[in-house]
Order: sequence, then C-alpha cells, then structure tokens
Amino acid sequence: MTTESKWPIGVFASVDAGLGVQWDVIRQLKVPTIQLHAPLPQSRDAETASRLRDQLNDFNVKLTAIFGGFEGESYADIPTVARSVGLVPAETRQSRLDEMKQISDFAAMMQCDVVALHLGFVPHQIDDPEMPGIIEVTRQLCDYCSQHHQALHLETGQETAEGLIQFLDAVQRDNLHVNFDPANMILYGTGEPIPALQKLGAHVRSVHCKDGTWSDQPGKTWGCEVPLGEGDVDMRKYLLTLEQIGYTGPLTIEREIPQEPERQIAEIGRAVELLQELKAELA
Ligand code: MG
Repeated sequence: MTTESKWPIGVFASVDAGLGVQWDVIRQLKVPTIQLHAPLPQSRDAETASRLRDQLNDFNVKLTAIFGGFEGESYADIPTVARSVGLVPAETRQSRLDEMKQISDFAAMMQCDVVALHLGFVPHQIDDPEMPGIIEVTRQLCDYCSQHHQALHLETGQETAEGLIQFLDAVQRDNLHVNFDPANMILYGTGEPIPALQKLGAHVRSVHCKDGTWSDQPGKTWGCEVPLGEGDVDMRKYLLTLEQIGYTGPLTIEREIPQEPERQIAEIGRAVELLQELKAELA
C-alpha cells in the first residue's frame, strides 16, 4: 500500500442534520474523504442522493460511511444518553430499526458500503434481561445492511473494549464491525483509548480522530471535547497503535462544534495539518 492510499484524511460532515462540518466547508478543507451524518428523513431520497453524489464527485471526495441518528436523542449528560440514544431504548427500538433500514437504503443510493451508529448503552452484563432484544435488533439491522452489501459499524464509547467484544461475539454477524472513537472512551469514562484500541484490533474498520479530557468523575459526568491535539488522547500514539493493528482506512476528524463555517475551517483545518504532520513523521 502506498503512503498516499493509507490513512486518507476525512471529516465528519452534515447536510441538514448533525454537528458535522457544513457541506460547503468540505471542499475548502481539501480532504479526500468524508463520513456523513444521515440527512433528515425527508431528504433520504434518490434525487438528494444523486445530487450529493454528483457534488462529491465534483469535490473529488469519497464518502466512506453514513451515520444514523434519530429525533429524540440527547447527549445532554450521560444518564440522558443511556435513556435516549440508539437502538437500546425499548420503546423506540422498532421505529428506529425501521429508520436505520431507510438510512441503509439511502447509503445504497449513495453507493456507500458502510452504515454506522451509536447503538446506545448496551448492558454491561451479557445475561442482562434486555440483552436478547438488543442482540436481535442488531442482527436484524446487520442482515438488512448485508442485502445492500454493507457493513454496520458501531461507534465506541459507551462500553469498555471487553464489553464491546463480548457483544460483537454474541451478535455473530460477519458484517458487524467497530468505528473507534478514542475521545469517547475518555468522555464517557469507559477506559484508556490506546489499550482499548489494541484489544479491539481487527474489529476496527473505521475511526474518528477526536480529542477530549477526562471528567473528574469519569463515567458519571462528561469529560470535555477539545480540538485535536489539545486533549488526553495522545494522537501520535493513536496513529502508532492504528499502525500496529494494521488499520489503513480513513482518519475521519470529528469535532462537535456549532455550525459556524469560519470556526469549522479554522479548527478542523488545524486538525488536518496535525494529522498530515503525524502521517509524514510515521510514514
Ligand atoms: Mg465519534
């Protein structure tokens, strides 16, 4: 693999939903890849897909994953995440599964072979009474994605590496993988990201480059998300560890800041430079 094709830099982008960089900012950042937050339900149609595909071709940017998100999710604090996010809350599980299937259809229209999401707070005990239902909904979604020849990537953060591996083993689907986010491990207080990445190893098929600082009460209150290179994720060690586990896919910068193009270009532009420097150093 040439240096050019290894670790293409990317950004997490939005069209009309989510906190990714604005669509027009993609071109200004001059990155070769993006992950996309799924557009709002009314925009998940063939016409929108065709327009966005044409624009990405125009920008010379490859779409590497589409992330699902749902109305009613809140990241206000950790207990609210547990109550509101992903396919774990039982009362919205079926409707959100249906929505993820629509997002998988939309990803297929975008010719994108990876669908991803925050599954939610998976119980830490494999014999938890909620577990069979969560395993079943994950299987159903994997099987649906598989019809489109897509993989499903679970965003890390809410589980320890061991808990996540246990869950992946229980689901038993070969198109189920991990989108590793080192900052989430710190923000949620679920473990040191570098050893977690080493443990997850070959399960990791996409990654976020995001930084954060530990809370003084890890697991109870949020840590703080900060610009890349300014937090407790050692980015150099992070890339070295990705090298060790054989990961060569995109390095997707995620920065959850308000939709202000000037700030996005300045901050994420600096993150792009940092990754370029580290890539050059480690090449
Ligand atoms: Mg992330």
